[in-house]
Amino acid sequence: NNQVNIILFGPPGAGKGTQAQFIVKKHNYFQLSTGNLLRDEVELKTLVGLEIETLISNGKFASDETVNKLLRQSITNLKFRDRIIFDGYPRNVNQAKNLELILGEFNQTIGHVIFLNVSRDIIEKRIMGRMTCEKCHMILNEFFNEEQIELHPCGKEHLKKRKDDNLQTVVARYDTYMKVTKPVLDFYSKNANFTEIDGATEIDHITNKINAVLKV
Ligand code: AMP
Repeated sequence: NNQVNIILFGPPGAGKGTQAQFIVKKHNYFQLSTGNLLRDEVELKTLVGLEIETLISNGKFASDETVNKLLRQSITNLKFRDRIIFDGYPRNVNQAKNLELILGEFNQTIGHVIFLNVSRDIIEKRIMGRMTCEKCHMILNEFFNEEQIELHPCGKEHLKKRKDDNLQTVVARYDTYMKVTKPVLDFYSKNANFTEIDGATEIDHITNKINAVLKV
């Protein structure tokens, strides 16, 4: 099967991370979640991590410069060549332009842009229940996945709530999405490789639709 880089696009809580994990497993892809990369920096208390900790917990963006630097490290890793799922990047028009530049520099392209479209009320429920494993990054929901949480292989004590998953921050993040991130769609939606998927349906149903797009 033809491997190409993929952008998963959508509001916070659309299911980008969840779907990326399935694509990684099934198709041997690499998930490039800028949110995960930034949280790793915070966890490791690096210089960057200390700089961005408060920004992230307030639902503000890290600077383009910071994120672009982290991004470049993954794109230049030959192991991931043409097998990257961009999850949470680009988040503004400037980042979209930067992505074209870096990919061009390393002779890579974007094969698919998949937009998971979800309404605001659904997002709120998903984010408020979200639990992430600090070890394997698996995403579950305390309202919908009680059994899976109990049986989680890493141990349920490793499933944690994100600091920015509270109602106040969710509202701010959604606002920023509408103002700054959603306009990026204009950049992609006219291209033949753009697909919109209803992100409000069941996880499996969405996974099937994504697999159909990837034609495997
Ligand atoms: P996420 O895990 O995608 O929900 O991202 C969590 C937080 O990390 C966001 O609310 C931002 O504060 C920050 N972040 C993630 N990706 C980016 C990005 N591409 N540009 C700027 N900040 C980002």
